[in-house]
Amino acid sequence: MQYEPVIGLEIHTELKTKTKMFCYSLNDPNERHPNVNICPVCMGYPGTLPTINAEAVKKVVMVGLALGGKINKFSQFDRKSYFYPDLPKGYQISQYKHPLVEGGRLGVEGREIRIRRIHLEEDTGRLIHDSDKKSSLVDFNRAGVPLMELVTEPDFRSAKEVVVFGEEFQKILRYLEASDANMEKGQLRLEVNMSLRPVGEERMGTKVELKNINSFKYAADAIEYEIKRQTEVLNSGEKIIHETRGWNEHKKETFSQRTKEEEHDYRYFPEPDLPPLEFTPEQIDEWKVALPELPASKRGRFVKEYGLEPAVAEVLIRDKYLAGYFESVVSELRQEDIDTPEKPKTNLEKLIASFLTGDFLALLNEKIVSITEVRITPENMAELILYLAEDKISNLAAKQVLAEMFAAGEDPSVIIEKLGLWQISRVDDLEDIAKHIIKENPKAVEDYKKGKEASLQFLVGQVMKESRGKANPKVVGDVLINLLRD
Ligand code: ADP
Ligand code: MG
Repeated sequence: MQYEPVIGLEIHTELKTKTKMFCYSLNDPNERHPNVNICPVCMGYPGTLPTINAEAVKKVVMVGLALGGKINKFSQFDRKSYFYPDLPKGYQISQYKHPLVEGGRLGVEGREIRIRRIHLEEDTGRLIHDSDKKSSLVDFNRAGVPLMELVTEPDFRSAKEVVVFGEEFQKILRYLEASDANMEKGQLRLEVNMSLRPVGEERMGTKVELKNINSFKYAADAIEYEIKRQTEVLNSGEKIIHETRGWNEHKKETFSQRTKEEEHDYRYFPEPDLPPLEFTPEQIDEWKVALPELPASKRGRFVKEYGLEPAVAEVLIRDKYLAGYFESVVSELRQEDIDTPEKPKTNLEKLIASFLTGDFLALLNEKIVSITEVRITPENMAELILYLAEDKISNLAAKQVLAEMFAAGEDPSVIIEKLGLWQISRVDDLEDIAKHIIKENPKAVEDYKKGKEASLQFLVGQVMKESRGKANPKVVGDVLINLLRD
């Protein structure tokens, strides 16, 4: 029997805000000491009252708008009761009946994935289980951190679509500065709901929930594994059990964690300590206007406006600051600025893109710094790339100069001068050296004229040596061929 996977996602995102969701304790994901950012409110002391974090609400609304969702004019918080040691109040404030956002969509490989809802809630604390297996410790720094939950419709049909969606969503979160969305830090957490159904059938099968998956790659591997497992179960005539499963990265397999609670176990009811949220159309319009350019639009524009290859544009737009830096460098230069009488003109925008996504990104990765920390001004970067376009320096020299600029923040021309890296590309300048080399090497000249190509390479090498590596080897080749023609 042929089965088709049916997949829906629930994505939890820790929002980037100054303070927690319902109190003034700091929301600091980098805090290393346990139980520092806590107060009577997020510790659930009796008699305390929560207040709503407006920054968190705004961030969820922005995400909703970015995904084309409907912002509900009326929304409300609900209590979701359950017991867990890292949940100080014994309930979580969440949204159930009236979420902030309903509907929306995100295009993935030519298909649209529908968003069902996006709501706002609070994160739990964290349990740290001792390796002796005798004790568990609780860190409440995370308790009460604003948590956004997005639920999709069951519209995915492959692991690939899930990964593409996840990566695009992660970019959107970062563009909006809604979250750093770092999966290793648990700021973006994926739950995959999936079932199989015979191809052609409408009705969905029993679903399994895959939890605690902390990378897109693991998600893809877990889905592929489940497709195989569920196919075997169904083909053997058995039924799929509605359960939660985890991913074991060592064994590369999913394993049963627990069978799921029913919804009514949570005893949802409107949170009596918080007022409902009501937005005017003007307020929503104001947020809409504040939306920045989103990854999909930037991606399309970079290909169209600058003639970049889609793969190169993708690397640039992955980080909005890198994309912004690229455009700043581009705005510093005009095609007419290139001063190269001997050569056809290079496409500057493509060259800038390839230099930034190549040597520049490699340097940032090597030094483990982000683009926002780089001190090289777009103006200096433009100057360096212009020299490259004009063949005034070699690719190798450009890389060397870039490293110096990064370390010292000096102008490229100063560094090139200091290191003696100007490349000799002018025919006039090279002809004298070439003539001299031809005179000194009659044997090689004779061999070349008899048709021995390798002799030309030898002569080029001699000119390079004579110029102490500064000659442009391509121009040297052309000059020699010209001189040896007569
Ligand atoms: P639950 O009540 O069990 O949490 P929901 O209906 O709220 O289930 O859906 C949770 C997620 O599971 C959504 O992303 C939804 O698209 C997806 N989903 C629901 N039913 C199925 C199914 N039969 N197969 C695959 N995914 C499903
Ligand atoms: Mg659910």
